[in-house]
Order: sequence, then C-alpha cells, then structure tokens
Amino acid sequence: MRRFRAQAATALSVAIALCSVFTLSAQEANFLPRMKELGLQKIDGKIPAYYSAGHKEHAERLQSRIEDMNTYFQAHLDVQANVILALLDSKDWTDVTGEPYGIAMVIGNPRVIFMPATSDNPTFALVRARKESIPPETLRLFLRDNQISFESAVGQFVDLVGFHELGHVLTLNFGIDPQGHFLSEFLASYWSYAYISERQPEWKRVFDLFGRPSKIRPQHTSPEDFEKLYMGVDDPGWYHGMFEAHIREIYPNLGLGFLSDLRKEFPLSGDPQAYAQPERPLPVGDIIKRLDKIAPGFEVWAATFNSAPSPALPQPSGAAPARSSKSPH
Ligand SMILES: [Zn+2]
Repeated sequence: MRRFRAQAATALSVAIALCSVFTLSAQEANFLPRMKELGLQKIDGKIPAYYSAGHKEHAERLQSRIEDMNTYFQAHLDVQANVILALLDSKDWTDVTGEPYGIAMVIGNPRVIFMPATSDNPTFALVRARKESIPPETLRLFLRDNQISFESAVGQFVDLVGFHELGHVLTLNFGIDPQGHFLSEFLASYWSYAYISERQPEWKRVFDLFGRPSKIRPQHTSPEDFEKLYMGVDDPGWYHGMFEAHIREIYPNLGLGFLSDLRKEFPLSGDPQAYAQPERPLPVGDIIKRLDKIAPGFEVWAATFNSAPSPALPQPSGAAPARSSKSPH
C-alpha cells in the first residue's frame, strides 16, 4: 500500500498542479494544434471532443453530459463555459500534454478538459482507495441494485470528475473569485454535485457512495496545508473526499443559492479567461469564516480536518513522493 501511495502521489503531484485554472503557463498553452497533429479523432458539437482510438462511445457519453451541464447552468444561473474535451489513454495524454498520465484537469487557452480513457490512470487508484470508508452493507446494496461491479462503479466516479473540471471554469465565468486552491476545489465539486443532483440521479448515487475521504489518514490534513502545498500535500484525494462529503451534506439545503451568495461575497472583476489569483489572497481561515456566515457549519466542518490523529509515518526506503517544484504559485 505504501508503494502504491507513493507512486500515485508522484503521478498526481504533476497533474493536480494543473487541475486548477490558476496556472499561468498552462493557461496560455494551446493544445489544439498538437491534438490535430497527432491525428486524434474528433466529435463535433458545442463541446468538441477529441478521443483516443477505441473510446468513441465513452467520449460521446461524456460530451453529451458536459454539454447538458452547460445547458442546465445557462438556464438556471445564466452561465456556461466554452471548453474542449479530450478523452485520452496514457500514450496520447503524454504526447499531448508532455506530462505523465495523471488525474483529470482543465488547462489551456482554449480550455481543454483532459479525462483519462483507461483505468491504468492514478485517478482510479485514488477512488478504489475509498472502498474501506464505505459502509460494507451500503456498498453491497449499491452494487446489487445497480447490477455493476465495484470496478465499474469506480469508473463512473472517475467520469464525474469531468463535471468538476467544468465547474472550475464555471466558478470564474459566473463571477466568483475563489482566492486560492481551497475554495476553488471545493466549488468545482459543488457545481458538479449541483448538476448531478438536478439532472443525473444515477451519477448522484455514485457520488454519494464514493464522495468521502479514504480511511488512510495522510500526513497533511489542514486547510492551510492544502492552500500552501496544493499538489504537494501527501494525498490530494483525501482533501477532495473531505470536500465531497461536506457538499453532499449542505447542497440539499443551500442549492444554487449558495453560488449566488458566494458571488456577492467573493466577486471577480475582469476577464475570467485571464484570471490570476489575487496578489494578496484571503487567508484560508478568513475564507472559512466568511463561508460560515453564508452557510453556518463551515467552521465546525473545517475543524474536523485536524481533529483525527495523523498516521504513523515510517520513512519508506527511497519511495517517498518527490515534492514537485511545479507549484502553480
Ligand atoms: Zn479541481
């Protein structure tokens, strides 16, 4: 397990750096010429979709749902995001991005949502690692009722990450300045959960099953660590699980009004495409205080990040994940 975690963290450290829309060099990159040059097949549409050979049906499925997510938010909040979808296997991923096969991300200008087409991607390993935190009877009934295998359920949750990536762009286009990683990542999943709650009940059930942190307690657990280290934290997937668990709890009460309230509290000025993090972003503790005023409970939730003991961390011989210097900041 330690070996897996080290490998996954190494791969993730590169990809998560790009998961946010903050990365300036990544914002400027245009991946379209490279995808055309490689001869990737394409499905036209409001969201053009490029895909690796053999993954057309999967690409069509993701494309139609992401287009529908745009349609939903255009109708309800007057916002949408122009993006391109790229559903790639390991080789094409590296050929296009120059990076190892990693977790889903949205980068570039024009913005491209990169999604893994195959299960040899580290995102799958992170989701599988949540199995132990799902009550066994809940999992058994879910798999029985849906007539699917655990691995197939993992794949469905990975597909959901595409909605999270669209959410990153919607946050900015809607006019919210997330200030930093903590709120940016939280909100991206909030958009995703809002959409599936209203339009994709089957995917909502998958999110409700997996949207929780793994039981493996990582070294870094504080909101401040995430803000400071971002992809350099021991296990970014753990933080995402914490966000998802809270979103499942608050969305039924707060709904889309939460997003409108946040826009008033954290207004974004200027062109969303050229967004750069404020020079003096609000400290994450202040962000949480402000969130608590909009939706009481955030401070109590944030306190749970630090409340459990850290795991014993024996130093593995040579297997520790390298702390990438590719921080977006
Ligand atoms: Zn993200």
